[in-house]
Amino acid sequence: MPVVVTGAAGFVGSAVVSHLLERDEPVLAIDRRPVARPGVAAVRADLCDGDPAVQAALRAAESVIHLAGCPGVRDRAPDVERRRRRDNVEAIRALLAAIPTDVPVVVASSSSVYGGARYGRASRESDPCDPVGGYAASKVWAEQLCAARVDAGAPLVVARPFTVIGEGQRPDMALSRWIAAARQGRPLRVLGGLDRTRDFTDVRDVARALAALRGASGVVNIGAGSPHRLRDAVDAVGTVLGTEPVVEVVPAAPEEVPDTWADPSRLAELTGIVPVTDLVDAVARVADAAELEAAG
Ligand code: NAD
Repeated sequence: MPVVVTGAAGFVGSAVVSHLLERDEPVLAIDRRPVARPGVAAVRADLCDGDPAVQAALRAAESVIHLAGCPGVRDRAPDVERRRRRDNVEAIRALLAAIPTDVPVVVASSSSVYGGARYGRASRESDPCDPVGGYAASKVWAEQLCAARVDAGAPLVVARPFTVIGEGQRPDMALSRWIAAARQGRPLRVLGGLDRTRDFTDVRDVARALAALRGASGVVNIGAGSPHRLRDAVDAVGTVLGTEPVVEVVPAAPEEVPDTWADPSRLAELTGIVPVTDLVDAVARVADAAELEAAG
């Protein structure tokens, strides 16, 4: 029986598929975008459409890693609330209705539910949710849909990844924007200030953690627990590209919270995985992948 990976054409989904293939686990990919991976069976469909092939795949899954969603806190397109509701909330409702309760499920929520590192310390899973903005609110709603299974001790993990970085990351993410800007000789636009911090987490660690969490139950942070200043990330872009980046600091919207910081101890207890982020290495991989993609 295959591991079903939803959102498999996306940034984190692609990394999870690669990780599972390295371990020789059979994968069935679901995405509404095409998934062109040798050795991977794929269903191209929207999770909200009741597609019979999706229903059959979810019923027969060995486990499900759910990464389909509408990411991005900064999205301000006019239809964004509709997309967030559909892809972050209704997709999970449809998914849970189709998956038997004894099948291990890992659902991607987000560190955004914390509303930042509120207490001058790392965010713990037991901290109250305090979402800022529509993306974070949609993730809290999604978590609420998962709560009945979690409360019943079913094998469902609500994973809260912290700023995931690495090859294939979305072009709207900060490192991708900065690398593109530096390559074009434009200033790097930094939201809010260089001393803000993010608990950047390597996508390879995130993929390993998501896979390893199958079978566990509850809410789990996926973060390194070692926030970096945005200044350090800008410097890493300069190091990798061999340039001296020019920075333009602009005001940040409220949903762009000042600092994020994961307490990763529950992840370590459950899986033994302790994510470690090497910013220069990760930036180099983002830059290489973006260059390859641009070359077609
Ligand atoms: P992504 O946009 O790269 O990938 C999401 C994929 O899901 C896309 O390929 C899209 O086509 C697919 N999809 C969306 N809705 C769908 C639907 N209804 N039916 C079928 N396919 C659908 O996003 P990502 O960065 O890989 O993020 C994956 C998940 O992890 C999201 O839920 C996101 O909110 C969450 N997350 C991401 C980060 C991060 O830093 N990237 C951090 C925390 C949480």
